[in-house]
Amino acid sequence: MTDPNCIFCKIVSGAIPSRKVYEDENCYAFMDIAPFEKGHTLVVPKHHARFLTDLTEATLTQLIMTTQKVAAYILKTMPCDGFNILQNNGECALQTIPHVHFHIIPRWNNKGLQWHSTKAYDSEEEMVEIHKRIIINE
Ligand code: 5GP
Ligand code: ZN
Repeated sequence: MTDPNCIFCKIVSGAIPSRKVYEDENCYAFMDIAPFEKGHTLVVPKHHARFLTDLTEATLTQLIMTTQKVAAYILKTMPCDGFNILQNNGECALQTIPHVHFHIIPRWNNKGLQWHSTKAYDSEEEMVEIHKRIIINE
């Protein structure tokens, strides 16, 4: 199921370009366009659903397993010291795109935590270089 008005459905289909990090049968991971930190990545199910609570057990399992895989790769290749998993449901909870997603936000010791979009990358070149580092090529 896709929603023709949903930005993330359009990213999954390729109608809107994205910096893909990983894709499998059920999920799609890509770099956040307005990152909180370098390497900030989003993981979405390919089928449209609004809230975490709308997912079937099977889809939720696939989504969290893929999120774990992408996070493990980011931890190793950034490399970072840790990461946040963030997941918002509803406008009141700051969900801006109504298609379920997990944020993976890399974190570093002694760097501090930003919970909003920043100029995370020093340059376009740095973003491209980090993208190459975190892409999972299988
Ligand atoms: P939310 O606030 O819904 O949990 O997070 C939505 C995230 O999607 C935000 O961090 C925002 O920067 C990101 N985002 C919104 N539109 C686009 C887009 O067109 N492309 C990409 N790559 N990320 C997007
Ligand atoms: Zn969607």
